[in-house]
Amino acid sequence: MRIILTGGAGYIGSHTAAVLVERGHEVIILDNFVNAERDVPARLKSLTGREITIIEADIRSTEAVTAALQAHRVDAVIHFAALKAVGESEADPLLYYDINIIGTIRLLQSMQAAGIGRIVFSSSATVYGQPDSSPILENAPTRVENIYGRTKLVMEDLIRDLARVGKLKAAANLRYFNPVGAHPSALIGETPRGVPNNLMPYVTQVATGERPYLNVFGKDYPTRDGTGERDYIHVMDLAVAHAMALEHICGNDVSVTVNLGTGHGTTVLELVKAFETVTGKTIPVSIAPRRAGDVASYYADPALAQRLFGWKATLNLEDMCRDSWRWQAKRAGINDV
Ligand code: NAD
Ligand code: UDP
Repeated sequence: MRIILTGGAGYIGSHTAAVLVERGHEVIILDNFVNAERDVPARLKSLTGREITIIEADIRSTEAVTAALQAHRVDAVIHFAALKAVGESEADPLLYYDINIIGTIRLLQSMQAAGIGRIVFSSSATVYGQPDSSPILENAPTRVENIYGRTKLVMEDLIRDLARVGKLKAAANLRYFNPVGAHPSALIGETPRGVPNNLMPYVTQVATGERPYLNVFGKDYPTRDGTGERDYIHVMDLAVAHAMALEHICGNDVSVTVNLGTGHGTTVLELVKAFETVTGKTIPVSIAPRRAGDVASYYADPALAQRLFGWKATLNLEDMCRDSWRWQAKRAGINDV
């Protein structure tokens, strides 16, 4: 298939691009580079051996996007482009409504104008808010706890509505749990701007010496060791899931909403210990107060993805730590990996 990846130069999009090319699909990236490095296309080329067409455009530019979709006669869109920082969404709600919601509406309009009716969308486990229990099934209640989460739920609803009334032929809302890791080549990975909000990038920056210690947000949660529990998923597993979901919905013209997680919970201290074991680095920690809005524990029930399109995560916490470290160490010029 020929597929346009909005936000395809970003973290998850670039890994998905590499996997799609490997599976014989043709990939076109549409990105405005607001949160992507300029050299990602060149890195993807050295990874895949293929020239990937890059369209520098904003998803809100209906004219440019429609023209791109028509010119390349694409079969489907994978829609990654969005802003994703919870704190920023609370500080600047209109920015998030504009890029995420209006951006998605504009993209869907462009797709309709170009006659393209198949989409895979990047949703998030954040739509579950504080879940009643884990593992979480796709039919668990959705709860909006911040503006970023609201934009994801609205975007999901838009896509489900269009599919329900037949304006989209096929759609997949993919609810990611906690993506971490990098391509094993260390040619692509995650590059957070400024101080990382997320655990794994913070841990890797402590390991390089860029940050002195990790603040562990809360040690009084009702979990095994009192620290927050999450379902970390390797970005390569996530990338493969996009390809399999795409092939499934396009092959059968169906619409699905699916969790993408491993089904295993890992606490903050368990992740730190695994990272230390895999890398031989010491990660000093300091126990800090709980972070506002954090959930004690959540992890996916990922069985539906397996039932529908045969996907299951194959990489474990050690793989996630090793590949996160390889990427960060290379960026920091450390050669011990
Ligand atoms: P990312 O920021 O690395 O990638 C997003 C890409 O979209 C970037 O390359 C950015 O330049 C581009 N972009 C942003 N606004 C754009 C616009 N208006 N027009 C065109 N391009 C635009 O983020 P990511 O981690 O790869 O996340 C991809 C998607 O997955 C996002 O929708 C995000 O909300 C969702 N998601 C991410 C996580 C996570 O932890 N990384 C978890 C759940 C869901
Ligand atoms: N966390 C932490 N220190 C950090 C960053 C995160 O202790 O510097 C904890 C956080 O409280 C949560 C877990 O690590 O329990 C995962 O946090 P992250 O921000 O990566 O994911 P999210 O909370 O969005 O699921």
